[in-house]
Amino acid sequence: MSGLYLHIPFCRKRCTYCDFHFSTTFENYRSSLISALVQELVLRSTKSNNSIQTIYFGGGTPSILTESELCLIFTTIRQHYIVAPDAEISFEANPEDITVENLTIWKSVGINRLSIGLQTFSDADLQWMNRAHLVSDGLDGIKLAQQLGFDNISVDLIYGLPGQSLAAWQASLDAVFKLGVQHLSAYCLTIEPKTALNHLVRKKKLQPADEVLQSEQFLELLTKAKSFGFEQYEISNFSLPGLHSKHNSSYWKFLPYIGIGPSAHSFDGTQRRWNVRNNTIYTKGVGKNEQWYQTEALSANEYRNEQILLGLRTVWGLDLTALKEAFTIKENAQIVEFARLNWLTLADQKMILTEEGKLHADGIAAALFRLD
Ligand code: SF4
Repeated sequence: MSGLYLHIPFCRKRCTYCDFHFSTTFENYRSSLISALVQELVLRSTKSNNSIQTIYFGGGTPSILTESELCLIFTTIRQHYIVAPDAEISFEANPEDITVENLTIWKSVGINRLSIGLQTFSDADLQWMNRAHLVSDGLDGIKLAQQLGFDNISVDLIYGLPGQSLAAWQASLDAVFKLGVQHLSAYCLTIEPKTALNHLVRKKKLQPADEVLQSEQFLELLTKAKSFGFEQYEISNFSLPGLHSKHNSSYWKFLPYIGIGPSAHSFDGTQRRWNVRNNTIYTKGVGKNEQWYQTEALSANEYRNEQILLGLRTVWGLDLTALKEAFTIKENAQIVEFARLNWLTLADQKMILTEEGKLHADGIAAALFRLD
């Protein structure tokens, strides 16, 4: 069974903090890109990978897609892949696109999980973020989706925002957990180099949040999530029991997935593959069936490093029996030190980070990496 990811590289506006692959001037080549996406779906289907358990529409902004575009994509998927009857089909929706008409279309094509990019409960934040919605749009959209029968809804929030106090973050958490949604993805703001946000910070128009405050906000997130019955199953992801994202969990569990669309990544169990991050080159490449992607076979060390990095991010922990080689004496000493600091626990052949350890997840993983 595989997961299928589709990257829809269209956005109405350029959010200041975003470094994903997307274009805001796509109307004149929109149909040729959708055709290429559909063609890639056909080209990538093989007998060994055509059994699909999860589908995820990400971007960019999938909710920009029209009914006919969505129908074309779904028809192609169902013609060329075997989609499990209980497949999780997730769709990222921007609040400004959530209308009765769109929700009805999304439901009719089989989408059964919405991921709604609320991002913050402050209109002033949404303004410097250059988002296309207001807080009220997000809240109305969630209510509408619930009324139309969507019972698996995830909300995205960002914390560690410039000027965001701990009290403001606490209030946002109280508000989000009272919305009756099933899942929360909460990310700490990162200032990526080639973004408008980086420019605003360098020009001193925005003051980045203090790292200590960001850590306090993260720990508050863990506390609030627990108090509302949400399980933290990955560093940035929380759900009601049994309602974690199956698609994203397959990434963290190191399972195979197929990525379709410009910039999409794929993994077949041994090899990573990534599509070109350019809409024109992608469309032309797929059209001529010429190389529109690159591949890389993971070395034994890279494979192991990824197992460690991904495993430590999850509630399931790093499965030590899955590691091909045991830890060396030096690595073991490092692990003992992390355990002494109460950053991780070891039991039943699983290494699991503590709440404190989650603040240092990347550093802990990096300390156990092996270089080629
Ligand atoms: S809508 Fe999403 S993908 Fe598009 S620019 Fe904003 S954050 Fe990035």
